[in-house]
Amino acid sequence: MKSRFAPSPTGYLHIGGARTALFAWAWTKKQQGQFVLRIEDTDRERSTQASVDAILDGMSWLGLAHDEGPFYQTDRFDRYKEIIKQLLDDDKAYYCECSKERLQTLRDELTEKGEKAKYDGCCRDKKLTSGVVRFKNPLTGLVVFDDAVKGQISINNQELDDLIIARSDGTPTYNLTVVVDDHDMEIDTVIRGDDHINNTPRQINLYQALGWELPKFAHLPMILGSDGARLSKRHGAVSVMAYRDEGFLPEALLNYLVRLGWSHGDQEIFSLDEIVSLFELKNINKAPASFNQEKLIWLNQEYIKSASVEYLIEQLSWHLDHQGVDSSTGPELNVVVKHLQERSKTLVEMVDGMKMFYQDFTEFDEKLAKKQFKDSESIALLMSKLSALNDWTASAIKDQIKQVCDELDIGFGKIGQPFRLALSGNGNAGNIDIVAQLVGQKRTLSRLQMALDYINN
Ligand code: GLU
Repeated sequence: MKSRFAPSPTGYLHIGGARTALFAWAWTKKQQGQFVLRIEDTDRERSTQASVDAILDGMSWLGLAHDEGPFYQTDRFDRYKEIIKQLLDDDKAYYCECSKERLQTLRDELTEKGEKAKYDGCCRDKKLTSGVVRFKNPLTGLVVFDDAVKGQISINNQELDDLIIARSDGTPTYNLTVVVDDHDMEIDTVIRGDDHINNTPRQINLYQALGWELPKFAHLPMILGSDGARLSKRHGAVSVMAYRDEGFLPEALLNYLVRLGWSHGDQEIFSLDEIVSLFELKNINKAPASFNQEKLIWLNQEYIKSASVEYLIEQLSWHLDHQGVDSSTGPELNVVVKHLQERSKTLVEMVDGMKMFYQDFTEFDEKLAKKQFKDSESIALLMSKLSALNDWTASAIKDQIKQVCDELDIGFGKIGQPFRLALSGNGNAGNIDIVAQLVGQKRTLSRLQMALDYINN
């Protein structure tokens, strides 16, 4: 069994593309088949190397490894030419020289009459020798196929016109290349977005004209944004790598994507192995799926909570570099990660929470400082006690805080809140005794001094 993912490199790897890739990958792996990656780069004006790289990076970050490829259609022009010539020789295709103006007038006339705009076959029997090449679509009969998601689909050939399979410069078009490639690469299951479903009957006619066996088709419904429109930039990040940048784990994104349009009972969390073993094309929903950012965040948090510290450190390394955090300048990373694991929804949030351990700051959050840095006596007392402390552990630190409360007869919050702000600069910190231990004695004392200076100025 073989399936494929066949993106056009005209932008980044889109969330919708990633879901298509995941479904095709999961279905292939379930059957221990071969997963092919094919870059459909025949549109030379819109294809870029940067976009090819973005697709490869996205696939590799997601861990959707291909068994064959990547194949590039631009390497296969000779093969497409051969097939186009064969179709011409067999009188299954013909040259057409209709001008743009003629085609436009034809379209306008048909539209005005309320008819479907399609080519009228004007050059079909002219035996021309140059121009674009059109496929002789059958004039009568039905194209019927069973889509694994949508069920039986039937189209009357009268609704299909003679498709252009080669441009006037000889370069092939999508519908031709996809058929040749899927045949040559022995793809038996084509899984793709349903934005291609209108192309499928045309492609089936091409397969038949070439005497080739048809693959199975599964067309996936679109992903919609929260407003019901097709998911696009306007709904926020749609590039897979933007999710990496925002601190999502690849497993969480894959888990989220698999649930977009596919379900297995009411289970929400699936390991990659489970996705592969439980995946069934027949369980793909027919209706479009709606993207829900909150659910993705929830899943990400669940994955962060249950991930191993080693794995999180591995995933964090890009973020630490990216945010310029040098983890050699403070406490051991695994202790810090353990401390933050329960409270971080994303890796970016985790790195933000880490900064206080590895980076000094020169200013406090102004609003909080105004509110919380008022009483220098308690801060000074805490500072003197902590500077005398030999045993820099969370429990010893906690004892000193308690003693300050007792000696000054104040509640915990009166010193706890300013201490938290002094340590973090922004008030975002967990258990302050643990935080202080991790920040270290020297840094803790200098931050308390900074707080005193703030009050005294
Ligand atoms: N290259 C096409 C696209 O990116 C996909 C073609 C296909 O899967 O058949 O939309």
